[in-house]
Amino acid sequence: MQNFLNYDRSEPQKRNVLKRLKDFNEIYEVFNKSKAQVQADRCVQCGDPYCLNACPLSNFIPQWLKKTSGKDIDFAFKISNDTSPFPEIMGRVCPQDRLCEGDCTLNDGYGAITIGSIETFISEEGFKKGLKPKFSTKLTDKRVAVIGSGPASLSAATFLLRSGINVDMFEKDDRAGGLLTYGIPGFKLEKDVVKRRVDWLVEAGMNLHVNSDVGKDVLLEDLVSKYDAIFLGIGATKWNKARIENEDAKNSYSAMELLKDVQKGIFSDSYEKKIDVKGKNVVVIGGGDTAMDCVRTSIREGALSVTCAYRRDEENMPGSKKEFVNATEEGAEFSFNSSPKRIITDEDGSVTGVEFLQTVMTEPDESGRSSVKIIDGSEFIVQTDILIMALGFSPLNPEFLAKNSVKTDSRGKIEVNEAFQTSNEKIYAGGDCHRGAHLVVTAALEGREAAMAISKKLLR
Ligand code: SF4
Repeated sequence: MQNFLNYDRSEPQKRNVLKRLKDFNEIYEVFNKSKAQVQADRCVQCGDPYCLNACPLSNFIPQWLKKTSGKDIDFAFKISNDTSPFPEIMGRVCPQDRLCEGDCTLNDGYGAITIGSIETFISEEGFKKGLKPKFSTKLTDKRVAVIGSGPASLSAATFLLRSGINVDMFEKDDRAGGLLTYGIPGFKLEKDVVKRRVDWLVEAGMNLHVNSDVGKDVLLEDLVSKYDAIFLGIGATKWNKARIENEDAKNSYSAMELLKDVQKGIFSDSYEKKIDVKGKNVVVIGGGDTAMDCVRTSIREGALSVTCAYRRDEENMPGSKKEFVNATEEGAEFSFNSSPKRIITDEDGSVTGVEFLQTVMTEPDESGRSSVKIIDGSEFIVQTDILIMALGFSPLNPEFLAKNSVKTDSRGKIEVNEAFQTSNEKIYAGGDCHRGAHLVVTAALEGREAAMAISKKLLR
């Protein structure tokens, strides 16, 4: 303890830029044992750990750091899996600078503990030793249908199976994982890491039905009558539009269309990609982590140039700083304070450029927030062959919700009570379909809490 005076914060090694651009493998290496121990030993074991309070899952962070520094990986593995459905994934994809590490006491001049990287190390080291997450050895006669297989659903399934409740998971795509499989590129989260967790759920007794689209291949009302409860983790898949001229032009795509198309191509050589950015100029509009994912994916796919245009300045980007740095290292160009005005097309209706207006950030108001101000007459054009819109997602609000008396609010978000129960008492919901597009860790929390509420109801 107190080793922060002897050792600086150190991050895992990143792969060489030129090498990492040749594939979609993760760019960060996992800590080795000695580095993880030294970094974990920097923790001061605060009496009132802010990191724990800043973690949506309330992970036992100081405890597993202490066990890691004391070389007790078995116990660290156990307690990191107690509260989290997939700690090795959180360690890779959580924006730690805005969560646990942002609130670490040492983040005040000494450098926060590398909590996320140690979290990943604990799981990966445990897996190497043959440790596995624990599930109930005896399943009850209770059955829950989980709709969707993204982070909220995988989390719900994990905690339901741990309580001894049977789970049938229905996924409309050809593989489980939702956003973890098709929305987050492999350079941040390799797909074998997701599959490993899905496989353990299947091993624990979960029935996985892929290519099973609820509302088409299977009706929600039938599931409601057959199962003791339903969990909806159907995400937020409707892409937000900029509401500008020519937004539906040829060669204008949503972030998810690009990311999914590329990942499908990686999964199967016989898949025919719909979006080809090779040798083309690409403009990505947006400033969050998904925009960075699109930028970095386009670079790996061989784009001639990739420009990310964002209407605020660098300081006010909503995404993780780490992802911005990685994108910059990989060759992305940024056009800050650029607000799209219209999309320019040729006679064929294909995108040829985007007209932007320059903006400035206003002075912060009383709450400390600055807003965007357009500069009149500041139009400028950026030529492009492909346009990717990464402006976030909203819930899709499928018809089967209303048919089954599941209420949504005016923005299409599913309404739930404090137990994540919808207006249909047999149906629960959590993650992006309830909250709107948010973090993986938030979806995991809501899946966990809904599973606890369902277990309490069914097993009382
Ligand atoms: Fe930090 Fe996220 Fe892990 Fe919580 S889940 S400890 S916020 S990386």
